[in-house]
Amino acid sequence: MHILIIEDEPVIAQTIADLLATQGDTAELAYDGVTGLNRATTASFDAIVLDIMLPGMDGFQVAQTLRQRGNVTPVLMLTARTQVGDRVTGLDSGADYYLTKPFSSDELLACLRAITRRRERQEETALSWADLRLELSASVLSCGSRSVGLSQREMSLMSLFLRQPERVISKEELIRQVWGGCTEENSVEVYISFLRKKLHHLGSRAAIHTLRTVGYRLEAEP
Ligand code: CA
Repeated sequence: MHILIIEDEPVIAQTIADLLATQGDTAELAYDGVTGLNRATTASFDAIVLDIMLPGMDGFQVAQTLRQRGNVTPVLMLTARTQVGDRVTGLDSGADYYLTKPFSSDELLACLRAITRRRERQEETALSWADLRLELSASVLSCGSRSVGLSQREMSLMSLFLRQPERVISKEELIRQVWGGCTEENSVEVYISFLRKKLHHLGSRAAIHTLRTVGYRLEAEP
């Protein structure tokens, strides 16, 4: 697993990263809320360990902003405070689990396993973002009363974009995730153009933008 740790106390952050490393997991550290949120929305992680008391933007605001942006990465919230009120605020703001400091290594690892497993088990039937809805079993993309069928490849691409809207996804990542690492770069362009035509046909305010030399991003007009 690749975990994002947003924690302003370097010793605690490093201790968690070292602990994850013993399990063969990798971690990235962010020491304040704004940096953490930025990383969480620009890269993909299996889970986020999020402290509540952070400089600038606190953990509640980070979790809430992530969920508002449609990011569903499991969040494990950490806090030194034990009041019930914080716990409720934490869960309301979109955290999946709440752990009170000090915690044991075993406890932390067990929580991370639980939230990542729970996310995998949740049966997804559809993905929705902006004015779009993608029915996963029927492979139908719809916008308002209009709908259009997608091929298997278009489905994989579209669901990748819908799971991480407004995030730049590189061509390399698309090739890895949608084609299992082996295809020509121009197949990506071809399939992106298929999806663009379908989005246009649906009259959606969402569109896939090309960022030269960087990748693609699903964006929506307000
Ligand atoms: Ca803190």
